Amino acid sequence: MNYDTITAICTAQGEGAIGIIRLSGEESVEITDKIFKTPNGRKIKEYGDRKLIYGHVYDGEKMIDEVLVAYMKGPKSYTCEDVIEINCHGGIVPLQRILKLVLKTGARMAEPGEFTKRAFLNGRLDLAQAESVMDLVSAKTTKGFDLALDQLEGNLSKKVNHIREDLLKTIAHIEVCIDYPEEDIEDMTYDEIGKSFSDVKEGIGKLLKSSETGKIMRDGLKTVIVGRPNVGKSSLLNAILRENRAIVTDVPGTTRDVIEEFISIKGVPLKIVDTAGIRETEDLVEKIGVEKSKEFFNKADLIILVLNMSEELTKEDEKLISLIKEREVIVILNKSDLEPKLSQEHLQEVVGSKKIIKTSIMNESGLEEIEDTILEMVYGGKLKSDDNSMVTNVRHIDTLEKAHKSISDALDAVKQGLAYDFIEVDMKNCYDYLGEIIGETVEDDLIDKIFSNFCLGK
Ligand code: GDP
Repeated sequence: MNYDTITAICTAQGEGAIGIIRLSGEESVEITDKIFKTPNGRKIKEYGDRKLIYGHVYDGEKMIDEVLVAYMKGPKSYTCEDVIEINCHGGIVPLQRILKLVLKTGARMAEPGEFTKRAFLNGRLDLAQAESVMDLVSAKTTKGFDLALDQLEGNLSKKVNHIREDLLKTIAHIEVCIDYPEEDIEDMTYDEIGKSFSDVKEGIGKLLKSSETGKIMRDGLKTVIVGRPNVGKSSLLNAILRENRAIVTDVPGTTRDVIEEFISIKGVPLKIVDTAGIRETEDLVEKIGVEKSKEFFNKADLIILVLNMSEELTKEDEKLISLIKEREVIVILNKSDLEPKLSQEHLQEVVGSKKIIKTSIMNESGLEEIEDTILEMVYGGKLKSDDNSMVTNVRHIDTLEKAHKSISDALDAVKQGLAYDFIEVDMKNCYDYLGEIIGETVEDDLIDKIFSNFCLGK
């Protein structure tokens, strides 16, 4: 397809050694040739494809920067079009100047994500691969990056395609039977159809299962630290963060607001929240903190409950314990360096099967065990460090859920022995939903929406 020539600064804006302005489209070479001069006067195409060409950028007679120009001839380029990258000095001034000049010479300012969108529209990347580009750029941990890279390599797309192709065989067979009932085509038995649908359902189920961990890897495990005042919540957060962000003090209730931090425990991202404690209070400021903590509390994937070992269990402690009965919890029995008033055995009876860790955060003891327990609890040994094939994207998860629902409905219809017509719609919906993930069956405005979330120059 022929699109107009677009341009954008594609390196981060700020001071740096090198900045890059990218052009993509039919006229990229022509436009660059008009503003770029090599020492011997040769034109870009005389050097040829995939060469780094030294020269200067001129605005009329005025030289504005010394640069290197890379020419990547389409279709073997990022966008499948002719791409030029002008490597100039990495400050705001040279970048803006050259960008303006390129725009004046005939290119159009690219929209966010438009380079990657062209790679998709021109068939170099499917939609899931294109989306992974954004995840690569915004990855917060090495693991998050590796997952995105796996997706860019097309491994998710391959799995989705595989399921889709299997389903298509059954669809084709059923359609022929519906459309040409007079032909003597051997019917697939309902057992065979059921088997095929079950396999599809299982395949989708596996992908959804991987998303449980995948989403955490991308967005972080939402973790909340709760406990009544002064038990050591801020101290714990600080110890984990190894930096003093929260206020640590002896006055009860001083961690008034909610502090949210993003940390990585052995490559696994945790979004950790320290709260003012879930409890009744008369203090207005504290109340806001408490309201917020309730919200975080309800949404958390993991709750760390801190108790003070040097005091007996209070009513507040008991109330907190009753609130966390059904949740993923680690109970921290802190201040183990002081005279104990609360025994671990007694506490274990109260909290049931929940994991209890005895700590003295002041003496930095028990911290390693907390970290190991977090990993163990959440991934239960399920997570292999080389497992980089997981569904991480919310859109993919939503769409997979819809596909799963459709095939389940189709399978139910088969089990009830309903006529082909009853099976057809759900079966086709499932096929289309799978197609939405890789961008085969997707509406234009959804595509626009996806790419508009990209950063400029990508
Ligand atoms: P929060 O209100 O739950 O956030 O509690 P803080 O983290 O502010 O801690 C309250 C007080 O307990 C501070 O003076 C801490 O130094 C102290 N503290 C925290 N952990 C320990 C511990 O393991 N042992 C002792 N003895 N004191 C601790």
